[in-house]
Amino acid sequence: MARSIYFFGAGQADGDARQKDLLGGKGAGLAEMTRLGIPVPPGFTITTEVCNAYYAAGKVLPAGVEDEIKAAIGRLESLLDARLGSPDAPLLVSVRSGARASMPGMMDTILNLGLNDEIARGLARRTGSERFALDAYRRFILAYADIVLGVPRERFEDALGRARRQAAARLGVDATLLNAAELERKVPDSLLDPESLAALIQQQKDIVLDATGRPFPEDPYAQLQGAICAVFGSWNNHRAQVYRKMHDIPEAWGTACNIQAMVFGNLGDDSGTGVAFTRDPSTGERRFFGEWLPNAQGEDVVAGVRTPHPLSRSASGSDDDERSLEARMPGAYAELVEVQARLERHFRDMQDLEFTIQQNKLFLLQCRTGKRTGRAAVRIAVEMAKEGLISREEAILRVDPGAIDQLLHPSIDPGAPKKVLARGLPASPGAATGQVVFSADEAERRAGQGKAVILVRSETSPEDIHGMKAARGILTSRGGMTSHAAVVARGMGKSCVAGCSAISVSQGQMTVSLYDDHGHASGTLTVKAGDLITLDGSTGTVYLGAVPTVPATLSGEFGELMVWADAVRRLRVRSNADTPHDARTARNFGAEGIGLCRTEHMFFDEERIEAVREMILAPDEAGRRRALAKLLPFQRGDFVGVFREMAGLPVTIRLLDPPLHEFLPQDEAQLEQLSRTMGVSKRDLERKNEELAEYNPMLGHRGCRLAITSPEIYEMQARAILEAACEVAAAGVEVEPEIMIPLSMTRRELAITRALVERVAEQVFAEKGRRVDYRFGTMIELPRASIMAGELAEEAEFFSFGTNDLTQTTLGISRDDAGRFLGAYVESGVFAKDPFQSLDVPGVGALVEMGRDRGRAARPGLKLGICGEHGGDPSSIAFFERAGLDYVSCSPFRVPIARLAAAQAALSAGSSKGPRATD
Ligand code: ADP
Ligand code: MG
Ligand code: MG
Repeated sequence: MARSIYFFGAGQADGDARQKDLLGGKGAGLAEMTRLGIPVPPGFTITTEVCNAYYAAGKVLPAGVEDEIKAAIGRLESLLDARLGSPDAPLLVSVRSGARASMPGMMDTILNLGLNDEIARGLARRTGSERFALDAYRRFILAYADIVLGVPRERFEDALGRARRQAAARLGVDATLLNAAELERKVPDSLLDPESLAALIQQQKDIVLDATGRPFPEDPYAQLQGAICAVFGSWNNHRAQVYRKMHDIPEAWGTACNIQAMVFGNLGDDSGTGVAFTRDPSTGERRFFGEWLPNAQGEDVVAGVRTPHPLSRSASGSDDDERSLEARMPGAYAELVEVQARLERHFRDMQDLEFTIQQNKLFLLQCRTGKRTGRAAVRIAVEMAKEGLISREEAILRVDPGAIDQLLHPSIDPGAPKKVLARGLPASPGAATGQVVFSADEAERRAGQGKAVILVRSETSPEDIHGMKAARGILTSRGGMTSHAAVVARGMGKSCVAGCSAISVSQGQMTVSLYDDHGHASGTLTVKAGDLITLDGSTGTVYLGAVPTVPATLSGEFGELMVWADAVRRLRVRSNADTPHDARTARNFGAEGIGLCRTEHMFFDEERIEAVREMILAPDEAGRRRALAKLLPFQRGDFVGVFREMAGLPVTIRLLDPPLHEFLPQDEAQLEQLSRTMGVSKRDLERKNEELAEYNPMLGHRGCRLAITSPEIYEMQARAILEAACEVAAAGVEVEPEIMIPLSMTRRELAITRALVERVAEQVFAEKGRRVDYRFGTMIELPRASIMAGELAEEAEFFSFGTNDLTQTTLGISRDDAGRFLGAYVESGVFAKDPFQSLDVPGVGALVEMGRDRGRAARPGLKLGICGEHGGDPSSIAFFERAGLDYVSCSPFRVPIARLAAAQAALSAGSSKGPRATD
């Protein structure tokens, strides 16, 4: 192994920003800031390689590392003129986790390490504040006991409560009726006096002795070793594992461990701590933005225990916020503003910063690329490109296509009637309606039953992560814009209203204080679990009940980014749309045609399903034709609507695909009704029903197999399509119909269906006295179809890879039954991802390539598209770009995602300068 430790301090650092893999994001950021001459408390980083070696050796630090740590501590000591373990000039450090990818709050950090009774006394002498020293000491014992010694925090709660009550008594506050949270608000940590703290510390040590059978470690080096192992260990705690799974972070990366000299934001009113963003992480607006707490230590801001104050005077809307850092500490504020601007220019992206001010002196403790909402990501990328900070290509590559999903969904209808319940902070935008739940487990349980839920908490902590994931939206009564709830919700793209102080949550219900128009309290309202509320995370408003929403539009920066993306992408993007309404949505989102119009959904309409059933159950061809004649005008009408919406763009219509029994009557009443209209006995119908049942419908009588046995269905559909095309063309609208045959695998199937379509076309053109151009093609959704693509291409003018069925048939896994084991397959690493969501490139992808090569060899210029779920999946789109397909087709709401993903794919594949694929 190479070196294990990278030092930073006094303007010099062994590492730099490029070494995230080795030093973790935090370590690399600290090194880089130090190099830039930004004030950072000195320290050193133990690499991720050491973490991996620690695990490989069965959780022991590799040989030699301890000596290196001692040497690095020595360097720190001489730099600061202090010593670990010295009461006269104590060195205190933090021991901080920090992986390659940011995992906020998921792993552990220990502050104030290096204290024992004697050193705490020394610290009190040196700082002149006994209260401060004892508070730091008791916090350290608590965190160390919890994180390193495995004594849960809850075990200390009673002791802390007693200390608060003692302090309350001294302060003359009546605390008898207060619960723990209320008590904490009345007697915050800063009001705990030295006597209560000293007693508390003794009790905490007794608890540790009782729980572990050993006294609390007095030796700072022993403390340090324990903390380092615990930080490495926290890589594998439950919440970190859940987070990694959600964000596709590999288990093998490991975390680095940063040991850094402490600075104190809790040394009085000239000290404080905060977090800042160089731009607004919620909207993307270019304004310096953040929160701070006076006289507080690091974690207090994020934990949401006290609601923090804004940094700038004007941030809260009023022009002169007295609580702002700008008002309280103008010097430190000015320096912070200068530093944040430098860091953003240096890293060329929005930064998220942690800072602490110790007696008016500013220190930076962390910088990283800031998490942001999809909306903010788009705005920041576009504005930075316009500012010349990044290129347009970089702007395109900066926005995660998955994250813009949030922008494509509806927002609160401004015109709808609604009842405002309360207002909080607009922590993460978007509208969400759901049933109120008060715990993460409950959120998960109800969401599992298909319910939409809103998780309501006083504040969230990393333990709530599974509930936040299950919920549609998150509402908290405490905490600010940078609280855990806000940061995590933004990362997940979920609506969140934070710090809504009008609500209080306890004992399975939430009480809302109501205010009249003049802001006077006008009563309270109780909301119980299961009641419906709606959150507007863009404004911070909470509404009672469900509130109607309006569809999204591609305006402003988003529209601009799409134009830039369109300029570099090669792949065309079409949409899957079965109705004129979907077609319009798709077109508004920029679809360049329809890649898959399924006709079977059209059959389920109440007016039609009877005729469909009649057709299926008719005893002979004449009966079938009678029923089909009833369906023809309906189908023609459907296609007229779709062609009009897609004027001038291609529309691929797939002829009937599912097995016929899917349309059959499901219950007695339907059966009776049908028996009456058809004049056929119920028994006969039941017999026919049974005849049509299949053991494995996916591999049964479906797709073009239907046309081989009963050609009249496809004849009717071809007629409906071509009559509609003639009708729309006659009205002066350009039409480009593409007739697509499902589930073919032989040339003969296509020859038969093609002859059928051509015959009908000639009839229709003769009747209408006009011709329209149309194309004939097929889906490729069976392995044999890919293998025989050369033959199929002699009949088909285009292929559309139906990757849903192609995945099912290649893997031999039915999508509908895969739920039982696919999760385990992904978990145990058999599949990296669900192959129905993200294309199995080595397997199914190889069949796509074979189909492409053999098809194009037989018919140069053969048009190739894909129309499965994968058409809207960014990583699959990257493959389709490399494979040189002409278009992808996805659901309407994914069209902008596909446009962006296609642009990114073209930039990565180097095909962005070439011509666009033909449509
Ligand atoms: P996380 O990754 O969860 O943000 P951090 O390692 O950043 O954890 O630390 C948690 C909190 O403690 C942060 O607010 C950080 O600023 C603060 N902190 C960490 N190290 C120090 C230090 N040396 N001096 C003062 N505060 C610190
Ligand atoms: Mg941090
Ligand atoms: Mg199919």
